[in-house]
Amino acid sequence: MKDTLDTAVDQMPVKGFLDLKGLEIPTGDDLIKAILDLKKEKNAVILAHYYQPGPIQDIADFLGDSLQLARQAKDTDADMIAFCGVHFMAEAAKILNPNKKVVLPDTLAGCSLADGCSGEGLRKMREKYPNALVATYINCNAETKAESDIIVTSSNAETIIEALPKDRPVIFAPDKNLGRYLSKKTGRDMILWDGSCIVHEAFSMERIAKQLAEHPNAKLIAHPESESPVLELAHFIGSTSALLNYVEKDDCQEFIIATEEGILHEMKKRAPHKTLIPALVFDESCNCSECFYMKRNTLEKLYLCMKYELPEIIIDEELRLKALKPIEAMLELSKSIK
Ligand code: SF4
Repeated sequence: MKDTLDTAVDQMPVKGFLDLKGLEIPTGDDLIKAILDLKKEKNAVILAHYYQPGPIQDIADFLGDSLQLARQAKDTDADMIAFCGVHFMAEAAKILNPNKKVVLPDTLAGCSLADGCSGEGLRKMREKYPNALVATYINCNAETKAESDIIVTSSNAETIIEALPKDRPVIFAPDKNLGRYLSKKTGRDMILWDGSCIVHEAFSMERIAKQLAEHPNAKLIAHPESESPVLELAHFIGSTSALLNYVEKDDCQEFIIATEEGILHEMKKRAPHKTLIPALVFDESCNCSECFYMKRNTLEKLYLCMKYELPEIIIDEELRLKALKPIEAMLELSKSIK
C-alpha cells in the first residue's frame, strides 16, 4: 500500500504535491455546497461510518457499519469513493472495487486493532497451529486479511463462527474481547490474538455501575469490543447497527451506551424522544468515548481529498487478490444479514 499523501491538510505541503499558499478552503454553507458540487462533477459517492463527526454523517450518501459500507463499496457505480472512516475501511473498499478511485480525507485515521496485528505476526501464529482456520475481524490491514481464511464484522461474526467446520481449531484476530464474547456465544474454544480497541477497552465497569444506579430505568447496551465485565452488566450486546436498531425499537426510554460516541448522532435522529447517555470511561478527567482516529476526518479534509483526489488508496494487485478472497467468503456467508 502506498499513501500518495499522508493527510489532506496537515502534510500536503510536506509531501510537496500541492502548494497550499493561496489555496482557499470554503467555510460554512459554501463548504457544504463545494463538496456537493465536487460530488456531481466527479461522479463521487461519500460513504461514512457511524463513528464519523456529525457534519460528515449528515453529508454522506450512505451511512453504515463496516459490513454495510463494504457492500456499498462493492456495488457502487460512482467513479470515486470518498471514504469517511478509518484507513482499513477505505482499503477494504479498494480491495472490493479496484477500478474505482478511493480517497480518504486523512490517512492518519488509523485503528489500534489494525495497527496491533501485522500480516507477518498472524502468519507466525498460524504456523504454530497449522490445522487452524483463521477468522479475522475486518478491523485489520490488507496484509493481515491476506493471511486469513475468512473476515468477519461484528454484525456477522457469530453466524460465521457457527458456520466454520467444527473439527478445525479457530484462530480469531485481532480483537480478544470480541473473540472472547464469540467464544461464549458459540461455545467454541478459539485461539485469540491479543489485541483490543482503545475506545472500547476504556469503559469503566465501576463508573457504569454507578450510572445504572443513578438511572434505574435505563438499559445498558454495549458493543462486543468492550471488555467482559462491561458486557456482563449489559442488557443488550450488539454490533453498531444492532445497537441502533435496538434503541429505535425497544420500549425502554433511557439507554446508557457503551460504544464510540459518534453513534449518538444517528441514534438521536432515530429515537429523538429517548434519553441517550454515553457510558463512562476510566479516565475521570475525560468523559468522552470518542475514537481519536475516526475524528481526524473533517469536512475541510473531505473537500480537499475530493478536489485533489488525494490521499488515494493504492494497493498492490497480488496482495489485493489475496485479501479479497476472505472478504468474499464473508460476504457469501452473510447474505442473509441486513
Ligand atoms: S473505535 Fe476502536 S476499532 Fe473502531 S477505528 Fe477506533 S480504534 Fe479502531
